[in-house]
Amino acid sequence: MNINKSNSSQEEINKFNALANEWWDPNGGFGSLHSLNPLRFEYINNSAPINNKLCADVGCGGGILTESLAAEAKHVDGIDLADKALSVAKIHQEISGIKNIDYHYIDIESFAKENHQKFDILTCMEMLEHVPDPAKIVESCSYAVKDGGDLFFSTINRNIKSFIMAIVGAEYVLNLLPKGTHEYDCLIKPSELEQWSRESGLSLIDLIGVSYNPLTKDFNLTDDVSVNYMMHFKKTG
Ligand code: SAH
Repeated sequence: MNINKSNSSQEEINKFNALANEWWDPNGGFGSLHSLNPLRFEYINNSAPINNKLCADVGCGGGILTESLAAEAKHVDGIDLADKALSVAKIHQEISGIKNIDYHYIDIESFAKENHQKFDILTCMEMLEHVPDPAKIVESCSYAVKDGGDLFFSTINRNIKSFIMAIVGAEYVLNLLPKGTHEYDCLIKPSELEQWSRESGLSLIDLIGVSYNPLTKDFNLTDDVSVNYMMHFKKTG
């Protein structure tokens, strides 16, 4: 498959490649994704039971969510443009003896063209805030999903509170994320994500916030979507 990198930021991809060896270290740079993973997986599986379906994980990185999906899915395709993160994902898959994942070094626009209406469930978590044109990513994600299929996006809201909590707090005070992980201008309001999704034939099913408690180090679902949030859509055409 040909690769089109026009809707990616090499600077962003480099950040993820540079930390590739930490991907499966629960105390490393992606520790917060490990802490968050059971909660988001349960949310996805409760909202759209995975139950032997075909899944795609877009911007899969080292495969933390991909492997959880694979435990319930018929098959998962994980795609990313960080080749070193994908190498780690493949090694971890091998060590874990998981057979039903294929990882691909490809952009979602090209992948969707080859896999039109293939997937029952598509996840694209913590990725949209790292790309130049997130609306186009949403459009391609929609193109790859069957009519009636489910899509899940997660990202960070854009406002003064999210700046203080998700950038200053998480990167500079609590060291939850490596410094420089997120740029304020790339954060996304739920209303923007909802509009791009609607324009791509998706209907909003649910919007839910994700909160972090620094004392217990736990993530929880919340009605407050002002910082981290997830959105569940159905492809209605
Ligand atoms: N979705 C994973 C990883 C999130 S980190 C999880 O939540 O556990 C963001 C990931 O998005 C990184 O692996 C990065 O390489 C990837 N990414 C950034 N821009 C991308 C693009 N244009 N296409 C595909 N992947 C991209």
